[in-house]
Amino acid sequence: MKKYGEVYTKRTAATPGFSEHHTGLALDLYLIIDGKDVDENEDMIQYPEIWAKIHEKLARYGFILRYLEGKEAITGYGYEPWHIRYIDSPETAKEITDKGITLEEYLNKLPVGNVAPPADE
Ligand SMILES: [Zn+2]
Repeated sequence: MKKYGEVYTKRTAATPGFSEHHTGLALDLYLIIDGKDVDENEDMIQYPEIWAKIHEKLARYGFILRYLEGKEAITGYGYEPWHIRYIDSPETAKEITDKGITLEEYLNKLPVGNVAPPADE
């Protein structure tokens, strides 16, 4: 908050205790360019061609890009090319990636009819 200001921070950082990183399923990548770590958000965002190559390979390992460009209203976060999430299934990751949808959009379209309601006691 002190470094980036309130508006940017709220768009890019989770409220303490609510980060997807706490699930153990999300991680942030960073770049090493010409032997130097590139790990500040404003620096990493300057390499869209490198991120595109990385994003192409995510699904085969069961990962998706979590916070897509233009999907801020759905995810609640601005575009973060470095933030990826493991979802276990390369097939599902490929489907989500190919459709260009968010995890929220994917999950909201899953059928829910097989879930039994809780029994009355
Ligand atoms: Zn992250």
